[in-house]
Amino acid sequence: MTEPRPEQPPVPDLAQIFGAPAVTILGRVDEVVLGDTVDSLDGLVRVREIVQRPGRWDLAGDPPGQPIRFAPNPEPATRLSLQPSDRIRIRRSVNYFGRLNGHTKKVASHNPVKRGSYIHVDGYTAACSCGWKSDKVLLGRHSAGRTWLAHKAGQLTDAAYGSNSALMFIATAEVVHPHLPPLPWRFLTVTGGEHAGAGIAKADISALPVGQAREVLAAWRAVPGLTADEEMCWDREEDVVVHTLRGPRKQITDLRLHVAGPGGEQLIVDADYYAVIGPGDGSPW
Ligand SMILES: [Zn+2]
Repeated sequence: MTEPRPEQPPVPDLAQIFGAPAVTILGRVDEVVLGDTVDSLDGLVRVREIVQRPGRWDLAGDPPGQPIRFAPNPEPATRLSLQPSDRIRIRRSVNYFGRLNGHTKKVASHNPVKRGSYIHVDGYTAACSCGWKSDKVLLGRHSAGRTWLAHKAGQLTDAAYGSNSALMFIATAEVVHPHLPPLPWRFLTVTGGEHAGAGIAKADISALPVGQAREVLAAWRAVPGLTADEEMCWDREEDVVVHTLRGPRKQITDLRLHVAGPGGEQLIVDADYYAVIGPGDGSPW
């Protein structure tokens, strides 16, 4: 974890940083490629280091657009440790995507237009085989092509939003409330019951100091449209021994927020804090 960066714009212009329109997809951690942008507690991270360990992948990088300093071997500012099968939100340049069925680029020179004593001939129109048309005439063939690419990126992004209602809720909330704390969401789908098919987004924020974790939970709880399931939300002091991968630990604080959106999508945020039992190496893990 690094210090929060309040001076960062909430949504950096990824199209400018990628040099091409950005697509949002849901993908597995083991599908992330260098140059992708992913979510973290520090905000967006542009991945420039991927470390593959059994059962655990580290994605590390810096805020998108931040120039890499010419220091010897500069460490990435943020490092995320995830399971390779976790599904996360990935922003990727549209140039990585192949043909999209039903969407073929149609760039044509605009009909020559007589303007007074001369004929204007250098306009281009951008359209798509799906019926989409740019509402303006573009100056060059290149900018017309880029306008169509932005349409294609939008179609791919809409497909991701359509596939997980929790992702759609979060993406909308972030636009409406740009100062919501960023979270390292993992996405799942409700498999049964009344809301089968609805999206679930989970985030573990145990890396934050407990006071800051409480603020993050309060900020997300206050998002309009979400209803807290009070029986599944808690902030409690514990004195229980739990068995972790590295032996028994005493759990001392346990925070959880469980909220549901209008379509049954669920957002679940957890933070767990442990103390070492008996003589140890001083590490809480
Ligand atoms: Zn199209």
